[in-house]
Amino acid sequence: MKRQTQAIHTAFARRDAYDAISMPVYHSVAYEFDDAATMADAFTNRIDAPDYSRVENPTVTHLEQKVKALTQATAVTAFNNGMAAISATLITLAEAGQTIVTSRHLFGNTFSLIVSTLARLGIRHRLVDMTNAEEVEAAMDESVCAIFLEVLTNPQLEVADLKALSAVAHKWNVPLVADSTAIPFTEHHLHDLGVDIEVVSSTKYISGGATSLGGLVIDYGTRTGFNERLKLEVLFNLGGYMTPHAAYMQTIGLETLHARYGVQSANAKALATRLKAVCSGSDAPSDCPLRAVNYVGLADNPYHALAATQFGPTAGAMLTIDLASEEACFDFLNKLKLIRRATNLFDNRTLAIHPASTIFGLFTPEELQAMDVHDTTIRLSIGLEDADDLFEDICQALGLSQLDK
Ligand SMILES: *Cc1c(COP(=O)(O)O)cnc(C)c1O
Repeated sequence: MKRQTQAIHTAFARRDAYDAISMPVYHSVAYEFDDAATMADAFTNRIDAPDYSRVENPTVTHLEQKVKALTQATAVTAFNNGMAAISATLITLAEAGQTIVTSRHLFGNTFSLIVSTLARLGIRHRLVDMTNAEEVEAAMDESVCAIFLEVLTNPQLEVADLKALSAVAHKWNVPLVADSTAIPFTEHHLHDLGVDIEVVSSTKYISGGATSLGGLVIDYGTRTGFNERLKLEVLFNLGGYMTPHAAYMQTIGLETLHARYGVQSANAKALATRLKAVCSGSDAPSDCPLRAVNYVGLADNPYHALAATQFGPTAGAMLTIDLASEEACFDFLNKLKLIRRATNLFDNRTLAIHPASTIFGLFTPEELQAMDVHDTTIRLSIGLEDADDLFEDICQALGLSQLDK
């Protein structure tokens, strides 16, 4: 089966009592057993049967099975949100005194998790340039327990060579852990590039129009004991399992992901191409505030070829534009009529945000500088609207309504 078919037709673990064709929402905390021996088997994992919904639920299991089939992973665990999936993964891998090699180009809370929360528990980190495999290699030693990166960083839109990094990780016998939120796993096979564990904020592409929060840990089974510790120790003890209602919505979202991703990526590419032409043309108005357009799907982007090799021909729905100043960014946001001023990525509607003052608003100017988060950058998450309507809104907000479109 091709993946789009697989996304829709994943068999239930058990036949539904009413033969429902869409996995019902099992809003039950507990499950009854025929006899005491079966109950003991379920609780001690000798048989696979749900006993308590903090750690297993039929609706959540169905989503996990769908993701497992699509990724060919050996195990998938669904969490309440992306941060729960990421923190559970890192706590499973790291012990006090060990080191996580990662980058400054990380989702804000992931960065803060590593440099503040995990640091407080004695887990160290080294921050490197993931696009420079030699620098990553130089950061390795016996204390390192994992290399962690994002496959397409936000908002820098940087892409690292996963094969090169996995060679470094595997030489030191540690896993390469990749956050693939920005390019969904239906589009690529990161395990073929050497990724051992994939983490995803399924709040974004998977949820199907920002319906619910979710996180996924996709384990390719290359690390002995990882899945057992993740499930039986970290998930059991810390909690954070996905709720059945969220799993229901995310299952429906996963079924339409391929179609949505295609349209959103095509819209993003069309907009990036047209915006790039706007202010580079000789007839560009002298007061045009647009300075740069950053989208990995543009042929002249420095990461274009690598991204195409790793993730396929489309580059997703996230792009950034740089304007003349922070003031110009605020002015642009205030003038938007159709595009929403909101955080989040890969909603059905197009969203715009000024990352430096919002998502990264609590970092100091020096920290922002080190992270390459600039106060002149606007991040756009392109939705399912008609691209002409989006282009028109962006142009009018840039003060270019007189432009010949
Ligand atoms: C949103 C996001 C997260 C966090 O996910 P939540 O579901 O909001 O907890 C982690 N990593 C990346 C790359 C994200 O975009």
